[in-house]
Amino acid sequence: MKIGVFGGLFDPPHIGHLIIAQHVLEEFHLQKILFVPSGNPPHKTNYSTYEHRYVMTELAVEDNEMFAANDIEREFTEKTYTIEVIRKLHAQTEDEFYLLIGSDQWHEIETWKDPEELFRECRVVVMRRPNYDISKEARFFDRIMVSTAPLIDISSTTIRAKIRKGLSVRYLLKPAVYSYIKANGLYTV
Ligand code: ATP
Repeated sequence: MKIGVFGGLFDPPHIGHLIIAQHVLEEFHLQKILFVPSGNPPHKTNYSTYEHRYVMTELAVEDNEMFAANDIEREFTEKTYTIEVIRKLHAQTEDEFYLLIGSDQWHEIETWKDPEELFRECRVVVMRRPNYDISKEARFFDRIMVSTAPLIDISSTTIRAKIRKGLSVRYLLKPAVYSYIKANGLYTV
């Protein structure tokens, strides 16, 4: 099977994540996309707990049978590297993995652990994001697949900032995620 792996903080998961994931699923004929919230390194407090982020991710994908939340990073309490997540997934199945990353992440790929190894272990799909061009000169450019997913100017940072200011984020989130954030008073301070 061709499986998409979509990692991120998902703090919170927003409709931008869902719109581009659905597009990539169809564009590359994937059978499933795993949404993998990143682990919870200790001594860091500037993001929500793993539990909140995982539950919101589950709520975001629950009505799409092609999407699934995956908790492989739940036990990762140190800084996690994508290559380790892909290796761990590979240890579980024979599937072919397609790693989904936004163009902001693509800019940082040189700083990732073992990028050469990562490209051997999986295919990498890059989705365009405002303010982050996909430079053709970059070292691994000929190894990536650039998605035709629409440019969507939504980020979790903007959503958190809006909530802090008391502005509405209602249409930027799945209703279940929106309700969860309200019920738990997330991002208000
Ligand atoms: P933050 O603003 O907190 O950095 P984010 O909106 O970038 O959050 P993440 O959870 O960090 O969300 O993103 C997970 C993955 O989704 C990353 O690869 C990121 O590049 C990608 N991504 C997030 N939002 C978009 C978007 N609007 N368009 C394309 N890719 C996106």
